[in-house]
Amino acid sequence: MKNATKYITKNLVISIVVFLIIAAILSTYSLSNSEPEKIQVSQLITQINEGQVKTVVVKGDVLEIELINGAKQKTEKESGESLSTLLSNYEITPEKMAEIEVDIQGQSGLGYWLRVLLPFLLPFALIAFFIWIMMRQVQGANNRAMTFGSSSAREIPKNSKDKVTFKDVAGVKEAKEELMEVVEFLKSPKKFINLGAKIPKGVLLMGSPGTGKTLLARAVAGEANVPFFHISGSEFVEMFVGVGASRVRDLFNKAKKNAPCIVFIDEIDAVGRQRGTGLGGSHDEREQTLNQILVEMDGFDPNQGVIVLAATNRPDVLDPALLRPGRFDRRVVLDEPDINDREAILKIHASGKPLVAGVDLRRIAERTPGFSGADLANLMNEAAILTARRNKKLISIDELFESIEKVLLGPERKSFLLSEHEREVTAYHEAGHALVAHSLPDADPIHKISIISRGQAAGYTLKLPIEDRRMHRRIEFLADLAMSLGGYVAEQEIFGQENLTTGASSDLRQATRLARKLVTDFGMSEKLGPRTYGEKEEMVFLGKEIRHERDYSEKTAEVIDSEINKLIDGAKKTAQEIIKTRQADLEKIAKLLLKKETIEKEEFEELLGKKG
Ligand code: ADP
Ligand code: MG
Ligand code: ZN
Repeated sequence: MKNATKYITKNLVISIVVFLIIAAILSTYSLSNSEPEKIQVSQLITQINEGQVKTVVVKGDVLEIELINGAKQKTEKESGESLSTLLSNYEITPEKMAEIEVDIQGQSGLGYWLRVLLPFLLPFALIAFFIWIMMRQVQGANNRAMTFGSSSAREIPKNSKDKVTFKDVAGVKEAKEELMEVVEFLKSPKKFINLGAKIPKGVLLMGSPGTGKTLLARAVAGEANVPFFHISGSEFVEMFVGVGASRVRDLFNKAKKNAPCIVFIDEIDAVGRQRGTGLGGSHDEREQTLNQILVEMDGFDPNQGVIVLAATNRPDVLDPALLRPGRFDRRVVLDEPDINDREAILKIHASGKPLVAGVDLRRIAERTPGFSGADLANLMNEAAILTARRNKKLISIDELFESIEKVLLGPERKSFLLSEHEREVTAYHEAGHALVAHSLPDADPIHKISIISRGQAAGYTLKLPIEDRRMHRRIEFLADLAMSLGGYVAEQEIFGQENLTTGASSDLRQATRLARKLVTDFGMSEKLGPRTYGEKEEMVFLGKEIRHERDYSEKTAEVIDSEINKLIDGAKKTAQEIIKTRQADLEKIAKLLLKKETIEKEEFEELLGKKG
């Protein structure tokens, strides 16, 4: 119903505007053609006798008179009486009559009536028209409400033009191998059925956002060349209770008719959360929808040729019933891309984008650990946009490097001008981060330092791991903590406690978060030992908000706090020691930064020597 009111207000505004325009046009029109003066018949006779009249146009009973001096007049005669009888009745002499031009025009034409009636009818017609349009749209909204139940699944038919195949998905090798099985079944189900093999009904794709789950699901349909029914979990949950369930029913009915085919439920966590938790208003609705999915999945014969794929980045919150054998019992994990995958993904997205000859995408892959497939696609796109804006024909490595930072930190803000003093503070702050990272063997090496502001940050220091790591050691975290505090400590040492700025606030937040994780999630505090503290759970109605449920005592909370403080304190001491003993190096970096604004890895190593 919200839609309907929106339509009405929109139309109302449009009609009022149109109305005003028409009114304006009409008023200027009638102003410029001022109405002829209305006179009595007797006056006309006098004028004729005085020889002032040039022409008389007879339109039915209306006489339009033009005087010799150009003035226009109008009068009416008795109906049924002709002009000549009228004039002779008033005893106008035939000579006088011959002096005036008489023109008799038919007046029964449609044009005449329109001219007379249109000014009156037009406003009514317009009003009626707009009312009709509004009614129609309100009705449309009602009709939509009535058809909510049928699925809004989008179908990509087989042999569709924008078909995606495994070739378009780089990396995720294991996932592709797993799904190859599904493809083969869809292509030739007989082979499997004859051997008595049971085909999986449901395959759950798991992976963090942007790893290519949606893309891979489409690729399976493309490889097998079967229709693909695509619906997102959040679309099930609508205003009306029961809609989700009926959509599920409809979706599966459609699929069964089109078998062999693929049903893809994207972001299934939106409906598939564990039942009986959370406090959302749409709670019942979600449960009904989920139940219906379970019923449908149990209800069809696996050899029918419908395979259900689902994707989620939160497998931990899914209802266990979804994962039972016979439902989504196959689980496929999409890993974050490693360096080779990243290169391959970049190559896929570089197709159709002309690169300068010899650009090595491997170098971009090296610099983008932690980027997802979507980030990399975004990076290539940003590079193309940047190149176009620079009026160049080919994308060079410079644009690609710049796009990495743009994707990572947001666009450069050249207009975000810092005062001379602020620039100096920022330079020392970033130099502090860099120096600490350079001094600690377990910190990642520096790739770039800059005091050009980007996104939220006044400056930034980019460090990148040498290799992709899946696991992290405690000592690396400690180095990270010290590096985070390097900026703060440098400001404190150089400018004094009173002159600390707000520039370090996000560093401090990041450090505190990391320290808390070490203590509560990673079991890396000696005092608190190998256990986790606190259950985390996402609240349904707030989406991202995390509820922190305490599973420890008040006393332990105090210990946690003191352990966090200890970690931060230790990191601060480490940073202080480095900055005090190497103040000359700090000055060197800061001076160079003030001069050049950005320092690349090579220059940095020239200045301080290679790390380690
Ligand atoms: P998800 O569904 O996992 O969040 P998507 O499948 O929507 O991610 O990926 C978003 C975009 O990122 C894709 O359209 C594609 O352009 C790009 N992308 C992600 N992963 C890959 C990959 N492995 N190979 C090629 N492109 C990828
Ligand atoms: Mg997706
Ligand atoms: Zn900082």
